[in-house]
Amino acid sequence: SMSFTDDVLLGCQIPFCHIVTTMALVPFALTKTIIFPGSLLEGFAAIGSMIVIWLLASVTIGRGWCSWGCFFGGLDEGFSKILKKPVIKEINPKWKYLPFAVLLLVVVSSAYFLQPMYCSWLCPFKAVTEYEPLTSTTAIIKTIIFLSIFISLVIVLPLLTKKRTQCALFCPFGAMQSATNYISPFEIKINTEKCIGCKICIKNCPTLSISEDNLKSGKAGITCVKCGRCVDLCPKGAAAYQIKGVTGDHGDACRTLALYAFFMFMAIFLGGDFINGIQRLLTFITTGSFI
Ligand code: SF4
Ligand code: SF4
Repeated sequence: SMSFTDDVLLGCQIPFCHIVTTMALVPFALTKTIIFPGSLLEGFAAIGSMIVIWLLASVTIGRGWCSWGCFFGGLDEGFSKILKKPVIKEINPKWKYLPFAVLLLVVVSSAYFLQPMYCSWLCPFKAVTEYEPLTSTTAIIKTIIFLSIFISLVIVLPLLTKKRTQCALFCPFGAMQSATNYISPFEIKINTEKCIGCKICIKNCPTLSISEDNLKSGKAGITCVKCGRCVDLCPKGAAAYQIKGVTGDHGDACRTLALYAFFMFMAIFLGGDFINGIQRLLTFITTGSFI
C-alpha cells in the first residue's frame, strides 16, 4: 500500500519533502510546533537534517536546487522535452509571479491552521507519492485536486509549452528558493556587448526567467534555476555562468565550479534518498507494502 496512516506520519516513517520547508518554518518559529512530519531529529525523514541541507544549498547553489536536486521538478522537465516544438508558443511572463502568491497563501494559512496546507490540499505530487485512503468526501475532493493539478501542470502544459510549468507557475518552494539566488555566488550573466537580441534564450528558458529587460540589464531574472539551457543555446556565447564578484570573461571556469557545487549537492541530497528508495523497493517486493 502507498497510503500513509497518522501513526506512520507521526513516526516520521515517510521521506521528508523539501516543499514542506515553506510551511514548517513560520509555525515552528511562532509556536514551536512541527506541523509535518513528526520528528525533529530522528529518522531519515527528520526535518532537522532537511533544514541543514536546505540552508547549505541555499547559500551555495540558490535556486539551482530546482534544476539539480528537485526530484519533482524532473517530472515536468521530462514532459517538457517530449515534443520537438511547443504547441503553445507564448505564456504571459507575468504568470511567473503566481508562485509568490501561492507561497504567501501557503505560509499564512499553514501558520493559521497549524497544518501543512500545501501538502494537505494542493500538492500535485501526491499523485505519485503518498495518498490518503479514500474513506471520506474530504479525501476524495483532495485527491481530485491533486490529480487535476498534476495532470495539468506536470504533464499537459509542460508538453504543450515546453516549459516547466509546475516549477515556474505554481511551486511555492521554487518561489522561496528564488530569494536565495541573491546570496548564491553563481548566476547567469548576459554580455550585453556580445548579445544580438535574437531572443533564443527568452524562448527556450524553461522557467520564463529571461525577458528583454534582463537582456538589457545583463543578468537572468531572480527565478533562474541555473539549468544552463540559455548558455548552451546562445549563438554568440553571450549568456554564461558567472561567479559574483569575478570580472572578465571566465564563463567556462565559472560553469565548471558551478557544476561541481551542483553535483556535490546532488550527491548529498539525493544519495540518501536513493538508498532509502532501494530499501523501500526491497520492502515492497518482500512485503507488498512500501512502509
Ligand atoms: S535557461 Fe538560463 S535563465 Fe532560464 S533558468 Fe536556465 S539558466 Fe536560468
Ligand atoms: S540567446 Fe544570446 S544573443 Fe540571443 S538574445 Fe539571448 S543572450 Fe542575446
